[in-house]
Amino acid sequence: MIIEKLNEALEKKNSEEVRRPREKHKYYPSSASVRVDGKVEGACARKEYWQITLEPSSNPPAAKNLRIMASGKRAEEAENENAKAAGILVDEQTKFQHIIPPNGLRSHIVVSGALDGIYELDGKKVIVEWKSVYGDWSQTHILGVNKWGKPSTELPYPRIEHLLQSMLYLDHYKGEMDTLYLVYIDRGNGLMREFIITLNASGTAHISSGDDLGDTRFTVADIYARFIELDGYIQRKELPARDFNDSHFMCASFCPFRDRCKGGS
Ligand code: SF4
Repeated sequence: MIIEKLNEALEKKNSEEVRRPREKHKYYPSSASVRVDGKVEGACARKEYWQITLEPSSNPPAAKNLRIMASGKRAEEAENENAKAAGILVDEQTKFQHIIPPNGLRSHIVVSGALDGIYELDGKKVIVEWKSVYGDWSQTHILGVNKWGKPSTELPYPRIEHLLQSMLYLDHYKGEMDTLYLVYIDRGNGLMREFIITLNASGTAHISSGDDLGDTRFTVADIYARFIELDGYIQRKELPARDFNDSHFMCASFCPFRDRCKGGS
């Protein structure tokens, strides 16, 4: 009885938040994506379009998933408290706003959000982005540890959407803060891994985490190009084509529009 009532309240609160109108030409860093060799990585433009135009969700997240997300947020916030105790926290929830300048008939575009933290390491300020994960896939592919607790055979690598967000921050703070620590925490077992990310002069990102993981195949300019593409769809009121097929993890499990998208409406 109590659980039912709590679930109802949680799901209602979430649906009201999702349906809050957004300012024109304004996007979140988490909406970043790129097109590499014709394939989209990061956020799906169609999902973003439906979210921004306040289309009702066909598959709203269940209370269970909302709780998982909320516990992840709390785990991330707790780490800033630890950073404060360690004497390295400079700022947290620092407002971030990057303007993509207007061009021709196109208006300016604003990418707006907040940095999780700014820390000071060896006398230098660095950007810190916290991400919490859980489950076998994340443990093996992101944290680099197999189910027996040994290093996995594949090199660990950050999620592309988190990398894109990190590149936006690094580009904005170029010359002021040139290193970003993308730190993952597994909320099931407390394992952690940090990726150190910098931008190259060409706009690609360099990633390391113990091992040198090389450069990205995409640039910051590629990310801005996709924000411009998404803004174009919104202004023309034109539904973007699907970026992913049904086997993609977003379409299979997480997207709040997956049934609507399948129906092709
Ligand atoms: S179901 Fe997949 S392709 Fe369709 S909107 Fe969602 S993420 Fe995009």
